[in-house]
Amino acid sequence: MDYVERVLEELKQKNPNEPEFHQAATEILNGLRPVVERHPEYEKAALLERFVEPERVILFRVPWVDDKGGVHVNKGYRVQFNSAIGPYKGGLRFHPSVNLSIIKFLGLEQILKNSLTGLPIGGGKGGSDFDPKGKSDNEIMRFCQSFMTELYRHIGQDTDVPAGDIGVGGREIGFLFGQYKRIRDEHVGVLTGRGLSYGGSLARTEATGYGLVYMTAEALKCRGDSFEGKTVVISGSGNVAIYACEKAQSLGAKVVAMYDSNGYIYDKAGIKLDVVKRIKEVERARIKVYAERVEGAEYHEGCKGIWTIPCDIALPCATQNEIDGESAKALVANGVKYVGEGANMPTTLEGIEVFQNAGVVFLPAKAANAGGVATSALEMAQSSGRLFWTFEEVDAKLKNIMINIYHNMDDAAKEYGCEGNYVAGANIAGFKKVAEAMMAQGIV
Ligand code: NDP
Repeated sequence: MDYVERVLEELKQKNPNEPEFHQAATEILNGLRPVVERHPEYEKAALLERFVEPERVILFRVPWVDDKGGVHVNKGYRVQFNSAIGPYKGGLRFHPSVNLSIIKFLGLEQILKNSLTGLPIGGGKGGSDFDPKGKSDNEIMRFCQSFMTELYRHIGQDTDVPAGDIGVGGREIGFLFGQYKRIRDEHVGVLTGRGLSYGGSLARTEATGYGLVYMTAEALKCRGDSFEGKTVVISGSGNVAIYACEKAQSLGAKVVAMYDSNGYIYDKAGIKLDVVKRIKEVERARIKVYAERVEGAEYHEGCKGIWTIPCDIALPCATQNEIDGESAKALVANGVKYVGEGANMPTTLEGIEVFQNAGVVFLPAKAANAGGVATSALEMAQSSGRLFWTFEEVDAKLKNIMINIYHNMDDAAKEYGCEGNYVAGANIAGFKKVAEAMMAQGIV
């Protein structure tokens, strides 16, 4: 049993019932094998064992009262995974599926993603099993206030800086920030994704989706191609999906399908994004409504069918494990050439293998969706410097960062003898800096 296998074995024994965490750790550590072989000192310092163990896990009760006076209790989580290269940074997810396994997989991914951005941010993640769907604004506010009433004591602008994720957008960040400020009496950059009137950054809302498309465009460009005239399928219809669609369309692609957790829309003529934005961002309604409003568009119940639609480029932007082996095979059979992961871990290990064996250019989440957290770090820089950059400035920095990440993972894959394997390339490129910092800081 080699070092990587031994660490994975121990991790599964010590953390039973955490399948998503096992999956992410397996993908990451297998990619790091060539690095630990080249650096035997890492094993002596138990570097991987420390890397997969969070520095701190915070679990708390979140009681709140609904509009009718009913009392509810949810679970709150913050996993402060690794602060070797900077303060913990990573989003909060509010979704009924949230549990410790999911938060830990997201936190582990976040360490390497944040390192890949080239900015000084460590890895963390948090959230709650609270379901924001169907709740009034007042209920959301009371929940966010209760959540922050515990979380505030664990975070800070130089300690841990949370942001949004599934179920946590501008509205929730506003409520969370308001409560933090009220308790601490500090107007500081303790959360990112803030509104523009209270310290937010232009282009943060667009950043993850735009960044995903910037990276995919660079991968196309390096192969003498572009988005122009390509057919694209995007899953999800939330923050990441909407702005990936916007940027892909602006580069001349035709996006034909999107979904929410109930079903998908297929519009052969090309998705009308203004209609999607109205339904999802303004009305907070279901994507199904699109087919009632746009002639020629179809709605299909269930999500999986979206991957049977022929396309050149697939951008999964909803949630983990959306594309399994079977869906990956369907995409390949229908001619997909590029897959860029907007969501975190949307492809199963089996799905990744299918894409890689078929020669599909596969851009893994920790690299492809790093634009969001990179722009969050730019928001932190603006907050600390009391600065406010223009949209164009932030967007240009974002584009630069995404192109750099692409070439860093490409170079790392080449350097370690696995050219074109961006899963390994991203893991290696992200890990190098974290490993160096952890080694320099002693056994902590
Ligand atoms: P949103 O809450 O804005 O949107 C999520 C979208 O995915 C919605 O359309 C939602 O549908 C759908 N969805 C959620 N769960 C499921 C499911 N189990 N099955 C099918 N569809 C589902 O979240 P974001 O767009 O912010 O996040 C999407 C992904 O991108 C996540 O994996 C997140 O971790 C990742 N990410 C986000 C970043 C950001 O900056 N926001 C940064 C980096 C990564 P419904 O409305 O029906 O729930």
